Amino acid sequence: MRVYYDDVFKGHETGPGHPENPRRLDYALEGIRDAGAPLVAPRARDDVLQHLEAAHGRDYIRYIEDLCSLGNLTELDGDTWVSPGTCNAAFTAVSAILDALDSREHAYILARPPGHHAGRSGRALTAPTQGFCIFNTAAVGALYGEGAAVVDIDVHHGNGTQEILYDRDVLYISTHQDPLTLYPGTGFPDEVGRGRGEGFNVNVPMPPGLGDDGFKKIFDEVVMPILRQYGPRVLIVSLGWDAHKEDPLADMGFTLNGYRYAIRSLLSLNVPAVFLLEGGYNYAVLKEGSKMLAMELAGLGRAPPEEPSASDHSAWGRLTKILAEVRSIQSRYWRL
Ligand SMILES: [Zn+2]
Repeated sequence: MRVYYDDVFKGHETGPGHPENPRRLDYALEGIRDAGAPLVAPRARDDVLQHLEAAHGRDYIRYIEDLCSLGNLTELDGDTWVSPGTCNAAFTAVSAILDALDSREHAYILARPPGHHAGRSGRALTAPTQGFCIFNTAAVGALYGEGAAVVDIDVHHGNGTQEILYDRDVLYISTHQDPLTLYPGTGFPDEVGRGRGEGFNVNVPMPPGLGDDGFKKIFDEVVMPILRQYGPRVLIVSLGWDAHKEDPLADMGFTLNGYRYAIRSLLSLNVPAVFLLEGGYNYAVLKEGSKMLAMELAGLGRAPPEEPSASDHSAWGRLTKILAEVRSIQSRYWRL
């Protein structure tokens, strides 16, 4: 098991008061220290640009490089900023995922900026902004790692990852808060992929207020059956801690018990799993969640010190309907 980290990830600045800031990594690192896991620095690779270009247009990459070279903090859109350290951070995150995939070991990549909202040329699908993201590290990894599947359990839909992988036969499964109630406004069940990619895009929108019990049901009834049938050789997990009940940006109501259930289910596939930090804006959750994940990856897992949460009656009712819709759409491609 490897935890990838480099101080350059703190060199991506986002301006005063921004929820996605370098301090997030300090708290996550505290959790890693508590778990007793060593850190690995990603090595400098000379093939980063080549693999980045599989996911992003050359013009977009150059545009970001130009902004990095301006020498000051630049607003890319209402949510997303580029600073002089952004490019080194974002390129190093790509190095880390390429290294992690080469190692064929479980890994947790503690990198910033996050990536799953970054589309081929920046803003993805119909999103109003890039949602704090610069390069889509998960998608770069998915196009690099043979037989990869991407599972996205950040509370926001990974619209960038969906856009980049949409016509590829690379499985992308996302669980996220109902897009009618949260950025980026996409991620409905009928978005199933196109051409060769048809059937390889799976969206499960979740009603706000769903607890750990509902999240477990989604894993048991949709995520894991599809993953087992697909049979990935490696898993890339876009991991956001922002579905936790203490997160300031969303309303899902999960605890670390729900996360642990998802992580254990994914590890039960017995293939290397690369967990990539995406969102998560409550510092204590970043710390405790990172500790829990590192311990699970090392096989030393213990129950988190929280009571599991339960869905309220109305969220459970809405989940039942959503699962019926997902099943009816995805059963064209998978046995559900
Ligand atoms: Zn998020």
